[in-house]
Amino acid sequence: MTVHQPLPDAASAPAINAAATTGDGLGCHSGQEAMRSAATAAGNAEMLERFAKDYPVGPHDKPQSMCPAFGSLRVGLRMRRTATVLSGSACCVYGLTFTSHFYGARRSVGYVPFNSETLVTGKLFEDIREAVFLLADPALYDTIVVTNLCVPSASGVPLRLLPKEINGVRIIGIDVPGFGVPTHAEAKDVLAGAMLAYARKEAEAGPVQAPRAGREERPTVTLLGEMFPADPVGIGMMLEPLGLAAGPVVPTREWRELYAALDCAVVAAIHPFYTASIREFEAAGRSIVGSGPVGVEGTVAWLSAIGAACGVAKPLVEAAQNRLVPAIRGALSAMPISGRITLSGYEGSELLVARLLVESGADLRYVGTACPRTPWSEPDREWLAARGVMVNFRATLEQDLAAMAEFQPDLAIGTTPVVQKAKQLGIPSLYFTNLISARPLFGPAGAGSLAQVVNAAIGNKGRMDAMKAFFAGVGEGDTAGTWQDTPQLHPDFREKFARRAAKAKAAAEEIP
Ligand code: SF4
Repeated sequence: MTVHQPLPDAASAPAINAAATTGDGLGCHSGQEAMRSAATAAGNAEMLERFAKDYPVGPHDKPQSMCPAFGSLRVGLRMRRTATVLSGSACCVYGLTFTSHFYGARRSVGYVPFNSETLVTGKLFEDIREAVFLLADPALYDTIVVTNLCVPSASGVPLRLLPKEINGVRIIGIDVPGFGVPTHAEAKDVLAGAMLAYARKEAEAGPVQAPRAGREERPTVTLLGEMFPADPVGIGMMLEPLGLAAGPVVPTREWRELYAALDCAVVAAIHPFYTASIREFEAAGRSIVGSGPVGVEGTVAWLSAIGAACGVAKPLVEAAQNRLVPAIRGALSAMPISGRITLSGYEGSELLVARLLVESGADLRYVGTACPRTPWSEPDREWLAARGVMVNFRATLEQDLAAMAEFQPDLAIGTTPVVQKAKQLGIPSLYFTNLISARPLFGPAGAGSLAQVVNAAIGNKGRMDAMKAFFAGVGEGDTAGTWQDTPQLHPDFREKFARRAAKAKAAAEEIP
């Protein structure tokens, strides 16, 4: 089952394009084009082309979200018996490890540091290789994931030349540069796709490990995209009358689940942006169904699509739908939402949440997602557009804020900066990541699950107005910053200095 490959000779590795990375400002703050040209010069043009196809930008250039590599790092850190090693600038690694531990990683993140000398001489690659050999203990690990961040990706550090396996421990090398992978959501797909590709080759080569709980006898539906832990259980109950079972959720929590995920009857692209993973499933001969069992209409449509993909007899599907619809409808009408809402996020489930809000009675005007439009997001986009909701893919912060200003919602659901702005304006607001995606979404359990938190937030309008009035003018303009006393404004000083500056400017212009 393991793939054996001779260790690469350091001398045979392609030359590092260190010169391409010596310019000032390589990193988040440098131009994307400078980074891309560096990577192309370093022989990574093919990688960039693949990223451009898998994670197309547009209609907007790039959403503003955290370092994309956090997505793949988190996927690796959540897997059993998996070690993660980062290769990149110390400041990037500091930020990424800080965020990982902030989110409870409870595991070390490996780091192979570099300086201009180790980069120029190709020693960095040798250091990475050595680190991987030192780590590869089959008693501890199934897999080691090595990730090139921006600078090593731009300079062409060739992780593909690492051995594919050492002592039975799989080695996966990925590049996750911010100039090629637009969001951390899509970075999860970079690693999930690389793992599926590896596992698919293993499965094609011979027998592989069964899942921990044993092999499922019924045909399964693999669930693509991270979700609230109760949702796969609920989806399993919805699939049962069809003679199907819920398969693993990808990204998986253990290597052996990858084989079970590939061994499914159909893949449900609950998060529709997992393009590299979908490529692997399609290569394994699996069909893909978009959207999810959300609300009444979403559940009916999704069960029909899954039933058709798995060849389930129509009466069976209809019987399941007839049983579920009254329960979902009942839950929705017991917990209605009333109020105008704008919604933005970067998780990839924004359109599904939007559908649930609309079916709950909310007057939803706008959905912005940092993720791209894909064939698998089309059912949800069409459904929302038909109900007059504006759907904005690759949304920028400015557009999310403009939507809030335009629609004057009773509630803004959004990312941290959107919520911050909403608070300043006295608009009740909720963080998408912490408060909305941490709830069940699907079937009867999802119906009504948002209403409590959403209605409570909308009901806070009076408190928001009181706070806005209380803090009015504090920390704005000339009074921004930390002061020992109440700041005294001196507009006369400003006028005086403006006159003096104008005089100096005029004098300078007079000099021949
Ligand atoms: S690795 Fe992440 S933090 Fe570092 S420069 Fe790239 S995008 Fe920015």
